[in-house]
Amino acid sequence: MKLYNTLTRKKEEFIPIESNKVKMYVCGPTVYNYIHVGNARPMIVFDTLRRYFQYKGYKVDYIVNFTDIDDKMIKKANEENTTVKKIADKFIAEYLTDSKNLNIKEEDTTHPRALDHIGDIIKFIKELEEKGFAYNVNGNVYFDISKCKDYGKLSKKNLEDLVSGARVEVSDEKKNPIDFALWKKEKQGEPSWGSPWGKGRPGWHIECSVMSRKYLGDTIDIHAGGEDLQFPHHENEIAQTESLTGKPFARFWLHNGMINVDNHKMSKSLNNFFTVRDVSELFDLEILRFFILSGHYRKPINYSKDTINQAKSSLERLYNGKRSLEYMLDKNPKGQLSNDIKQTIDNFKSEFEKSMEDDINTADAITSLFEIVRFTNSNFNNNTSVEDIKYALETLELLGDVLGIFYKEEEEISDDIKKLIEDRQEAKKNKDYDKADKIREKIYALGVVLEDTRQGVKWKKIKK
Ligand SMILES: [Zn+2]
Repeated sequence: MKLYNTLTRKKEEFIPIESNKVKMYVCGPTVYNYIHVGNARPMIVFDTLRRYFQYKGYKVDYIVNFTDIDDKMIKKANEENTTVKKIADKFIAEYLTDSKNLNIKEEDTTHPRALDHIGDIIKFIKELEEKGFAYNVNGNVYFDISKCKDYGKLSKKNLEDLVSGARVEVSDEKKNPIDFALWKKEKQGEPSWGSPWGKGRPGWHIECSVMSRKYLGDTIDIHAGGEDLQFPHHENEIAQTESLTGKPFARFWLHNGMINVDNHKMSKSLNNFFTVRDVSELFDLEILRFFILSGHYRKPINYSKDTINQAKSSLERLYNGKRSLEYMLDKNPKGQLSNDIKQTIDNFKSEFEKSMEDDINTADAITSLFEIVRFTNSNFNNNTSVEDIKYALETLELLGDVLGIFYKEEEEISDDIKKLIEDRQEAKKNKDYDKADKIREKIYALGVVLEDTRQGVKWKKIKK
């Protein structure tokens, strides 16, 4: 499998450190609010990569941290007159609700929280200080960038440019303007913890270095996140971890592109800043998942009414193809899996894998699903054997599951309606068209429209 490594700016062959296991760390959200559509992109993209590894038989250790102590958390807690912990608990629960609705494999995800690792963080900083990579000025501890020879290697920033371009802050206590805080001295109105440097709290970057090492070891396979995290966050993580361990932090650094809204950058000031919860009221979140996977993860994608509607109708076409197969499965004759069918379906499957192995090209991988549907729609009929149908359907579902789609199907119609559809088919078979029409009306009254097609009956829920 080839993955684009930000560190080398090249697509490289991915081979995990341990033969059967992939160790992945994805930077998670600061839990002071509902997640927005931009947060959903890395969640979906890297969940899909994880699913692909699992499909290929790897065990995946998958870590997504929750940043539950930082300036935004403190500000929110003060505004709401409550504690940082309470804000964090609330929005972690909301995150998990959204995440489940986006079909992220939460059951296979570990979510460490910064607040649960203050002791580990202090230990890590202490070690950096002892090794000469950090210095304490009146209770503020900074990372000394002059000690880190290859600083800037991920974002390809030049150290001299950074230094001359850096904003020199009022607190003139840093040795170098681009040194960053590992530990921040206690301030009025902020939560704090005791440490060798006095009371204070951790800086932001340190938590990922600490938790990645704690859960995955010194060197991991993949560290991922949005491209906005490349600098300074990921650059600083590398500096901290590699200075401490003397080993490479992550073999691969993966970054997803940003989401634009109506071709503008998503921002609070433009009032085009949507939370996942907001959009879940406009359309099913499976459509958001499908929309995000329909573009290449490294490129920007444009969220708009049109692009969402396109995603919606594409997904519907896949569902219709799947439903036709399910319908035929019940009605068609038994036989044998034919070699031709197997060969054709297997070809689509290997095309799918080829796309996924070319730097997670989900847009092309989706095309393979459409190929299966197009093929079965035009070649399968009443005489196609159950075995052929089953092979096509199971492949479609298997590949759909790698993308994390087709998870809403079971909720689509109730057993009562399914029974009515069968009754109607029975009536039609007996040429009792009056009865068949009456049943159709009854089903319509229950909110479902039927459509008779060559492959059988299709149904659609009426939008309220
Ligand atoms: Zn991080």
